[in-house]
Amino acid sequence: MKLALTFDDGPSPWTAAVLDLLREYEARATFFLIGARVRERPDDVRRIAAEGHEVGNHTLTHPRLTEIGDEEARAEILGGVEALEEVLGERPQLFRAPGFHADERVLAIVSELGLEPVFADVDPQDWQPGKDSHTIFRLVPGGTTATRRRRPAPATTARRRSRRSTTSSPASARRATSW
Ligand SMILES: [Zn+2]
Repeated sequence: MKLALTFDDGPSPWTAAVLDLLREYEARATFFLIGARVRERPDDVRRIAAEGHEVGNHTLTHPRLTEIGDEEARAEILGGVEALEEVLGERPQLFRAPGFHADERVLAIVSELGLEPVFADVDPQDWQPGKDSHTIFRLVPGGTTATRRRRPAPATTARRRSRRSTTSSPASARRATSW
């Protein structure tokens, strides 16, 4: 199974731990970052890029874009682009709307700004209490079977399997999560 991992809403105090884990499992992911936080934690953003992960724009302050006007939405999206450009020296190509809230009007603005919208095949709702890696993995097509098979295996085997299943490339992230 091939999974494309994406992480939204960083950078945050947890970013370093996420990067450590990805490095341990030799996995690559795509991070959709909030511009205001990018300015607060530029070192985390540079580390994400330096370690080979892909970076995408997740607006400047994470508003619900479908509930604000065109000008405000454009400013939010552009603000995210500019924050990333300031820190990384290049414009991001990918964009994910906060909460996946993007209608035709929002998508038209995204496209006008030269960004590629990225959604997700699985929304793990991992911000809800009680979610852990097992409940989330069950949401992935084929994940239930893999989880069942993995349960009786010794820790070292489970770990080797996880390593394979979490490996993803930025290119596959785009393929797997674009609508
Ligand atoms: Zn978000």
